[in-house]
Amino acid sequence: MPKLFIVPTPIGNLEDISLRALRILKEVSLILTEDTRVTKKLLSHYQINKTCIPYHQFNEHKQLQHFIELIRQHESVAMVSDAGTPGISDPGFLLIRECIKENIDIECLPGPTAFVPALIQSGFPCDRFYFYGFLPHKKGRQSILSRLAQNKETFILYESPYRLLKTLENLIEHCGADRNINISRELTKLHEENTRTTLSEAFDYYKQKNIKGEFVLIIEGNNKE
Ligand code: SAM
Repeated sequence: MPKLFIVPTPIGNLEDISLRALRILKEVSLILTEDTRVTKKLLSHYQINKTCIPYHQFNEHKQLQHFIELIRQHESVAMVSDAGTPGISDPGFLLIRECIKENIDIECLPGPTAFVPALIQSGFPCDRFYFYGFLPHKKGRQSILSRLAQNKETFILYESPYRLLKTLENLIEHCGADRNINISRELTKLHEENTRTTLSEAFDYYKQKNIKGEFVLIIEGNNKE
């Protein structure tokens, strides 16, 4: 029976990979990778020598049937992204849905995802939360922000260093300057930084900085009646 394993990989610290993930990566016949160079670094760190085939946002639509054929031919295939869990703001969904349609077994291992440690250490309520991921740059951006700002639940955004200030500015417009935010930067890496503050203070802080790294924004829900 052909099978696709979805294997989460570290979001920075290479030690954050499970023993089972390493075993699966050793056992499968081939690995679908978002960027083969990134995955090769991880594999060589763990002395795994495996054929890697690119599977990313630029070929996942066009070559979907080709990937299904590859899984059928190779029986046991793993899919990884550059970091974290495939499908979470990363490619993966299309192939998983197609495997389900084609009666190909899938199994997702538990593992690293950037928003989970950021949410937990924010100290904001995490019994219910809304994960949005990356905001669109243009179309729909303002209406999504306006909807998110009304949420009673904590909500979560992913952001790049280039757009952080713009997003903080937009969050102030929609949520108000005093809304609390936790910004997690470079999680699990040498220069990890977690800042719990208000939106306006976060904006002032990052305005003066040369902004670098990867960011998860955890925004407290709307507590106002
Ligand atoms: N699949 C990944 C996951 O499971 O979290 C997310 C991939 S998405 C393309 C990359 C974004 O995730 C970054 O822009 C950042 O918002 C967030 N991210 C990934 N690694 C991170 C880290 N070490 N520290 C903070 N944010 C991170």
